[in-house]
Parts: sequence; C-alpha cells; structure tokens
Amino acid sequence: MSRTICLIPGDGIGPEVARAAQDVIGASGVDINWHELLAGAGALEKHGEVLPEETVRAVEAHRIALKGPITTPIGTGFTSANVGLRKRLNLYAAVRPVRSLPGIKSRYENVDLVVVRENTEGLYSGIENEITPGVVQSLKIATLAGCERISRFAFDYTKTRGRKRVTVFHKANIMKKSDGLFLDCARAVHQERGQDIEYEELIVDNGCMQLVRDPSRFDVVLMENLYGDIVSDLCAGLVGGLGVVPGANIGDGCAVFEAVHGSAPDIAGRNLANPLALIMSGVMMLNHIGETAAAGRIKKAYDSILAEGNPEDLTPDIGGKGGTKQFAEAVIERM
Ligand code: NAD
Repeated sequence: MSRTICLIPGDGIGPEVARAAQDVIGASGVDINWHELLAGAGALEKHGEVLPEETVRAVEAHRIALKGPITTPIGTGFTSANVGLRKRLNLYAAVRPVRSLPGIKSRYENVDLVVVRENTEGLYSGIENEITPGVVQSLKIATLAGCERISRFAFDYTKTRGRKRVTVFHKANIMKKSDGLFLDCARAVHQERGQDIEYEELIVDNGCMQLVRDPSRFDVVLMENLYGDIVSDLCAGLVGGLGVVPGANIGDGCAVFEAVHGSAPDIAGRNLANPLALIMSGVMMLNHIGETAAAGRIKKAYDSILAEGNPEDLTPDIGGKGGTKQFAEAVIERM
C-alpha cells in the first residue's frame, strides 16, 4: 500500500539533494506517494512567508517528512523556518548519528556516536529585546517539561539501540539555573530508567576538546539546543564533513528527517552538493516507518560505493570528481 510522505525540498542545495534522495528512495522498492511542500525562499516568493500554514498542516496530517535545508538570513530579516517547524510540530529531539564511513578519509577511525539535541528551547526561543540602545538581551529558556522529555528520549533511545553510555554536555558552572535544570533532569531520568546505562557529565568546552582528541570514546551525547547545533557540525567534521551526517527531528506525533547541513549557498545549483547526508536521513526515515529492508538496500549500496571510492561516483567534498546526480545514479545502479 502506498504511503504518503511529505517532501520539503527547501532552498539553496535543498532541491538538488532532495531530488537525489527521492530518486534513491523510489528505486529502493518502497511505494511512496510524495506530497511536495514549500518552505524557505520558494515559499516566501509564492506565499509571502517562509513557513506556510499549509506546509505545517500537511506534515501534521501525514506525520512524516523528508526535508532539505532552508536559508535563514543573518542578523536581520525573517526568523528561521527550520526552528519554526520544529517548534510548531513539537519536534523536540534532534538525533544525529555520526559514524566513520568506509573509504571516507578523516583523522579518526571507529567513530560511532549519536548527538541528541534538545530542539525547541534554550537560546532558540527567539526572545530578544533591546533594553536600551547599546544593550540587548537574548533569553535562554529551559523548562522542567522540556528538559525531562529530552532526557527520557535520550535514555530510551540508548536502551532500545543497545548503546551503553550517555554523556551530557552542559555549562551549569556558569548557567546554574538553565543548564542546572537540564543536568538535574538528566540525573533524575538516569536514576529512574537508565541505571544499567553508564552516565557521564562534561562541561561543554571540555567535551569539545575530548571529542577532537578521541571521538571513538563517545556513545550517546545529550545536550541543549545551541550546544547541540554547534557540536553536530563539529562531529560532522570528525567523519568527513557535513555531506555525510544525517539527522531526524522527532516529536511525539511527527518526525521530520533532514541532514545536519544547511543550504550551502556557495555551491547551490552547481551539481556539487553531496546528497549522501539527506539519503542517509531518508534511510533513518525508512527505518522509522518500518521499511527496514529498503533502508538496508540503500545503506548497503552507498557503503559499497564509498568503499570502492571511484572518484567519478563521488562529490568533491569527499574527494570525488562527480556530482550530486552521479552519486545518486551510482547508488540506484548498485541496488
Ligand atoms: P552550510 O551547512 O550550508 O554550509 C557549510 C559548508 O559546508 C559550506 O562550505 C558548504 O558548501 C558545505 N556543505 C554543506 N552541505 C554540503 C553538502 N551536502 N555537500 C557538500 N558540501 C556541503 O552552513 P552555512 O553556510 O553556515 O549556512 C547556510 C545557510 O543554511 C544559512 O542560511 C543557515 O541558516 C542555513 N542552515 C539551515 C539548516 C537547515 O535547514 N536545517 C541547517 C544549518 C544551516
């Protein structure tokens, strides 16, 4: 039976990588009826807003979406459609698996960790004021409900995936109340439902240092919104860059799958973007909806292409001479 899934191509490199992921998923044998929706630059042009109500409603109705990146202007202009979508749909857990891949050169081996980022609170609450000229404030929000639910998610995820350890990154030495609450909740949830899981806390600056010294020692790494955003990119750099790290934004009702990377305006429209991160996000999506055989076929295909390392099949960010389309075609051929 065909299943409806929302596709939000986004802007910048979004439409290119979304098309590639859509083609690969289509070739894997699953029967998907894609419901394409606007968000980002295209939506602004057509509807005068970056996140049209129709897009939010459709994802709410169908519960699953695959999404390309969306540009957010720096300093001025509209607020982020990405943050808006996560908040509107209560997609409170960002899950970013980071693993060493066959054939991809990087400084580290045996990296297999998962960043779990709180996705709705912290400094992304968008509450900023000018108190008086020359003095502005940006409020960091932490709620008991928000900190508890992300902690529960992280420990449950660790358990169901057979992982062993949760490390919490925080800055509760300085932000005693907000990060303090985050830590209290993580400790309480560990006691409540994770006693068989190893538990560790690291101040985020030390955590980053430990990550670049030896990322293979980390398993599940839990943190609030801003640290999670920054650390996700850092972790991508440990295993080959933003072109190879997928993600999922998960809530109690819906899930939106998207890569960690942004809209990469520097390479947009040039067939240079690596579609692998979004294809991998698509694999996470297929596993989430129970299409594990199709997910396995896609993963096996891209792993074998990466291991072979034919430059014509790979995009330049991972040492290739090919493009977005060539990579997707190679994956499709291999299935
Ligand atoms: P970016 O992730 O778009 O790009 C950073 C660097 O990585 C660039 O050099 C880019 O070319 C490269 N890169 C990113 N994805 C790649 C891919 N798939 N293949 C090859 N190279 C890739 O980050 P940025 O430049 O800081 O942000 C650009 C825009 O994206 C901003 O407007 C930002 O707000 C937005 N953004 C959106 C999301 C999202 O939609 N979820 C996430 C992050 C950033």
